[in-house]
Amino acid sequence: MQEANPYLTAGQWFKGNLHTHTTESDGACSPEQNIRWHEQHGYDFVSITDHNRITDPSQFCEPQLITVPGTELSLGVTKGGGPFHLVAFGLPTDLQVPPPNSLTPQEGIDLVASEGATCFAAHPHWSSMTMEELDDLSGYDGIEVYNTGCDRENRTGLAEPYWDDLLRRRRPAWGFASDDSHWSTADFGGGWIQVKAPERSPEAILGAIKSGHFYSTCGPEIKEVTLHGPTLHVRCSPVQAIYWSEGTRGGSVHANGAELCTDAEFEIEARNYLRIQVVDAEQRWAWSNPIFVEGCT
Ligand SMILES: [Zn+2]
Ligand SMILES: [Zn+2]
Repeated sequence: MQEANPYLTAGQWFKGNLHTHTTESDGACSPEQNIRWHEQHGYDFVSITDHNRITDPSQFCEPQLITVPGTELSLGVTKGGGPFHLVAFGLPTDLQVPPPNSLTPQEGIDLVASEGATCFAAHPHWSSMTMEELDDLSGYDGIEVYNTGCDRENRTGLAEPYWDDLLRRRRPAWGFASDDSHWSTADFGGGWIQVKAPERSPEAILGAIKSGHFYSTCGPEIKEVTLHGPTLHVRCSPVQAIYWSEGTRGGSVHANGAELCTDAEFEIEARNYLRIQVVDAEQRWAWSNPIFVEGCT
């Protein structure tokens, strides 16, 4: 069983965006502007993921926050007819990134995995991915459960059904929220991850992400998730509702008028995993990673 509960590990929380673009590909702001914006908005780390290239921000400025080399690979067409994009981070800055659409999705995943990177399937709904093609691929770490740019463009930023489909198939997959900011519309500051890591270093943060020790959010904080036998306890910032779910099974508590929820206790019936979602009064969501219960391999 893979343990992905950051609430059981020691460390501090670090805020990061793992998907953003600059003028080095199709973004409207320079690498320096991108870095400064994240520094000024409380981020601890960022991965600039320009399309099919690695942008090293230290060539343009002196970042004060942690920068993680990354890219967004174009890997052909999905089964639904959209572009297949893979976000990868934790790569060597001198990696020779192959030209767009010169690799299949599996070849792209294998390439970045062989370099020790972490990767996720970007915006599955926007790309018209099918659940079967995600199940057929192997070696990736998760999917983008929320993409600010796609959400604001045409409401295709959410991928919860894809995620639950993978988890029901007993595929340990982490859910990543990110901005995919291109900076010509208000596609920034909408989604990020909070990572629990033992120290503020690239190695510690990347290791924690690989292990699933993070949650994704558009604003709310998920402060505690503990499971004692069948009893699940959740603590969070004030929200409108707290949910646990495993596909058809699940439950929720809701605010009583103006009195918002900050904790909940559930007797769960999950058979292989559970995950927590909360939504605040401004309709901003947060998603825990799955916690695998007995029987999930
Ligand atoms: Zn993309
Ligand atoms: Zn992108």
